[in-house]
Amino acid sequence: MQTCSVDPESRTRALEAFREPDESRDGVLEKFVRLASQALGIPGCFISIVDDEFQYIRAARNFSLRHSTREDSLCRYVIDNETPMVVSDTLLDARFVKHKFVVGEPYIRFYAGVPLKSRNGHILGTLCVTDGEPHLLSAEQLTALTLLAALVISFLEAWHSAGFTDPVTGLPNRQRLIRDLQYLATGGDNLPRRLVLIDCIDMPRAYELARSMGMGPVEGLLKDVATLLPLRLRLGPGDLLYTVATGRFALLVSESSGLSAARVADRMEGISADLGEGLSVTLTTFTGEVNFTAVALPAQEILRRGLSALHEAIGSGVPTRTFSAAEDVRRTRDFTLMHELASALQRDEGLYLAYQPKICLQTGAPVGLEALIRWRHPVLGELSPSAFVPLAEQTELLHDMNAWVIDRAIARLARLRNHCIQLPVSVNVSLHDFARPGFADLLEDKMLKVRLPTSLLGVECLETERLIESPAAMRGLEMLKLRGFGISLDDFGTGYSNISYLRRMPLDVIKLDRSLISGLSSDTASRIIARNIITMLKELDYVVLAEGIESADVAGMLSEYGCDQAQGYFYAKPLPDRELDAWLNWKLRNKCS
Ligand code: C2E
Ligand code: MG
Ligand code: MG
Repeated sequence: MQTCSVDPESRTRALEAFREPDESRDGVLEKFVRLASQALGIPGCFISIVDDEFQYIRAARNFSLRHSTREDSLCRYVIDNETPMVVSDTLLDARFVKHKFVVGEPYIRFYAGVPLKSRNGHILGTLCVTDGEPHLLSAEQLTALTLLAALVISFLEAWHSAGFTDPVTGLPNRQRLIRDLQYLATGGDNLPRRLVLIDCIDMPRAYELARSMGMGPVEGLLKDVATLLPLRLRLGPGDLLYTVATGRFALLVSESSGLSAARVADRMEGISADLGEGLSVTLTTFTGEVNFTAVALPAQEILRRGLSALHEAIGSGVPTRTFSAAEDVRRTRDFTLMHELASALQRDEGLYLAYQPKICLQTGAPVGLEALIRWRHPVLGELSPSAFVPLAEQTELLHDMNAWVIDRAIARLARLRNHCIQLPVSVNVSLHDFARPGFADLLEDKMLKVRLPTSLLGVECLETERLIESPAAMRGLEMLKLRGFGISLDDFGTGYSNISYLRRMPLDVIKLDRSLISGLSSDTASRIIARNIITMLKELDYVVLAEGIESADVAGMLSEYGCDQAQGYFYAKPLPDRELDAWLNWKLRNKCS
């Protein structure tokens, strides 16, 4: 379905498109003007677009005027009467004898103009020949001018529809939406309006379909949806529908219309579209809306906000979202931060590792170090991992970041070895890394290069639940174990409560989360829980490490319950390089032969 037919302002929109200069289009119009002048043997010729106020000359030959009011234009007679007008000698015509363009520049003495009439009957301007001398125009000449005008309007319409219509759905396209919004703004429109973005086709799936069936059915699907949409949504006469990207639509309505994003999602529920050959697919619809007044926001910004809301809905798996400025600020800030993280990693600027010692509860001696990433941001200052790791986890950047951490940690191990200190260092690695084929081999190569045994590098894994559900990650973990890397389960005791999974994972160390430890000094229940968990884990033969030890009392209790190792501010905070050297020197003094 074409929205042109429901668009009451199609004349205005076409005028809006034509009256603005456009180099390539006007280049063709210049050729028409030259042809008309030569064919009729009249020196002056021009093509004008006339709206309710002005005349815009878009192409001209031997005619100096470029712009005038509609009132002043001779063309308005052609347009008002919707017929050609020939004035052989303006000085002999009472209407024009005193006309400003006759008695002054450009001194029109002869004028013949024919209307440029669009397919849907709107007169958009004129094709005219003119001269400073009087002429007689033969019937053949007038016919030639009329035929040329028909060619000109055909060209203009083709130009307009190619540039502003989606070729597959036949709906107005994104450029047209932008233009319409700009048009509203220039017209001073301050009515509250709403733009609803609609995503109802799973494009990756559609392209998968195209792989086996070709593009035909996919285009059929897009067309089908474009036909179904106006019917399902029950569009009113002022509601405009666009195709803004493949499989994505936009609805421009006034805010008072009942068509909110939620209503759209509601009306689209359960809808299925035809693929041809008896196949149909059920569509899942996501919508995002932005409320605005055209005068207050640039057109591109309105569309960006609509898209942002749509992506918010898709990202959170809910049918609909309304644009929120606060959310948008946060997203933009996150996006900037990730951009900065990418460049910090690339330039190796501002990121560093802090190492938190792991202590043997029996002897008080260090038994290992955990590498924790830190970022000294040029503007925001010191950032803890919680400010950027969860964001990086949502992007490909996490791989780069983890690779950076692993390289630094291995370099640190090599330096420790050079100072005859043999302390394993563990890194926090995400599921995506385990799941990568060849991850264990890569780590082994890196260790071999600096001639270090794999047992000195440990990995701490989070996201237990997702890990055990991913066969690739579980395989990756097995490979790490086979290669001799130490494997710890981080944050035990948070989230996932079913612990039968433990037997399926090749684990060496279980790290009890700080939340299990924090209540130990104050409440009995916490003590009972911690004691039983430790007993159980010890019976299963794991090394048990408690995180977040902040006092001697708690360290004592844990030691009593049979816990093996501890980490926490009581022993040491995570230490940057130089502080780590000092701490180790102090802790391990006299140990180096
Ligand atoms: P995690 O691996 O469980 O690390 C322990 C966190 O507890 C660290 O926070 C550490 O500074 C903090 N902590 C240690 N002892 C105490 C204590 O006694 N009291 C209290 N209140 N806190 C203590 P941090 O460095 O902010 O790291 C937070 C999380 O960020 C880490 O939890 C880890 O999941 C993640 N992370 C840190 N570095 C990296 C990294 O290089 N890569 C990845 N993928 N994640 C990392
Ligand atoms: Mg950890
Ligand atoms: Mg932890």
